[in-house]
Amino acid sequence: MKKTAIIGGGASGLFCAIMLLESDSPVQVTIFEKMNRVGKKILATGNGRCNITNENADKIDRFYGENPIFPKEILQNFTPQNLIDYLSKSGLILRKENDKYYPFSEQAGTVLDFLRLKCEILGAKILVNNKIERIKKSNGKFIINGQEFDYVVIASGGKSSPHLGSDGSGYKLLESFNHKITPLFPAITQIKTENKYTKQLKGIKADANLSIFVKNALIRTDFGQVLFADYGISGPPAFQLSQVAAKNYNNNCYISLDFMPDFSVKQIKNQIYKIIKNPFTYPITAENLLTLMLNKRLGQVIIKFCGININQDIYELSDKNIEEISYKIKNFKLKVTGVNGFNNAQITAGGANTDEFDSNTLESKLVNNLYACGEILDVNGDCGGFNLQWAFSSAYAVSKAISGDAE
Ligand SMILES: Cc1cc2nc3c(=O)[nH]c(=O)nc-3n(C[C@H](O)[C@H](O)[C@H](O)COP(=O)(O)OP(=O)(O)OC[C@H]3O[C@@H](n4cnc5c(N)ncnc54)[C@H](O)[C@@H]3O)c2cc1C
Repeated sequence: MKKTAIIGGGASGLFCAIMLLESDSPVQVTIFEKMNRVGKKILATGNGRCNITNENADKIDRFYGENPIFPKEILQNFTPQNLIDYLSKSGLILRKENDKYYPFSEQAGTVLDFLRLKCEILGAKILVNNKIERIKKSNGKFIINGQEFDYVVIASGGKSSPHLGSDGSGYKLLESFNHKITPLFPAITQIKTENKYTKQLKGIKADANLSIFVKNALIRTDFGQVLFADYGISGPPAFQLSQVAAKNYNNNCYISLDFMPDFSVKQIKNQIYKIIKNPFTYPITAENLLTLMLNKRLGQVIIKFCGININQDIYELSDKNIEEISYKIKNFKLKVTGVNGFNNAQITAGGANTDEFDSNTLESKLVNNLYACGEILDVNGDCGGFNLQWAFSSAYAVSKAISGDAE
């Protein structure tokens, strides 16, 4: 019997247990979970709906880490379609929204119930309120809380959202086996910017193309709904850029927002001149100039951003003013000053150095029969179902390696 300990009952740990127990190999699985129940984070995913995967979640360019091609083989060996097929075969159907998949019930609890109950039915021993702080290896066996195991899987996540369980203690376990941890950054999180204008836009949502620049070089662009807040910006496109922001905010980093990506500056200018020639209200001041094009408050803030008094009569605006307003609608620049920390971040970028793990089996190259899967590794994906797919694909890889390993 292959006695396997899984440290962490999150998405990757639970799925690894299921895959092991469904294999033909004689396996005994014990899950050690520090919280009072498994899978707390799963309940918070996708705003409570659990964005479980993404049709692009086998594309390597949507994943990051010091070795960006490391996850390739693992994602190809258990693709989003493999996950969808497995869940569907088990009775858990999904619904698709654009490229994202959610449980048909639209409840993250469905995914957690499935994983937890399946573990129980298959006979996994689940030990909650069991934070593991020390693992010893002697005579080829791992010793955890006085129990002996042949295999150990570290599936304890990163250090983001520690109230949901993952407090970074898994890194210490790996370090005790001489594994190195790459620098850690909060990612998929809100971005802090200079806030003179974002404060005035607090609560406003607007579709925009966001581009992040470091030392004037464009690093990444993303389109979607941005939400303005006291501290800066939030929303899906801000989340996607947050990793670059976290790593570079001290490095002349700014975000440029384009509120009318389908229009050129010239087209916007023509639009503004149309309004000036055909006023829809009288007297028309700069305050209302952009009302027919953009969210009213956003339009006013852009006017202020150009240094123009919003009470100024539009007929007093110079061609240079109109040019500048049109330009600023497409280049609304905010200096990045930081990101919200690990407490609010959805994931941790960085983690266990992947050079020290086999890219097919995820077995440690330093310690036989020690494995890691999920977010603890230095692999992270975009917002939109990529990180859960990594948790499942990597758990699958580990389970195949252990179950296929000759006793
Ligand atoms: C609010 C929020 C929303 C998210 N939404 C999505 C989404 O919609 N789609 C998506 O793809 N991803 C989403 N993510 C990211 C995704 O949830 C994680 O990447 C994924 O859960 C990682 O799985 P994991 O098993 O590696 O780690 P975790 O899910 O963090 O699980 C680790 C488990 O290990 C336990 N543990 C930690 N240390 C120890 C220890 N020393 N001893 C015992 N147990 C320990 C923890 O309590 C935890 O239960 C979201 C994350 C957050 C925080």
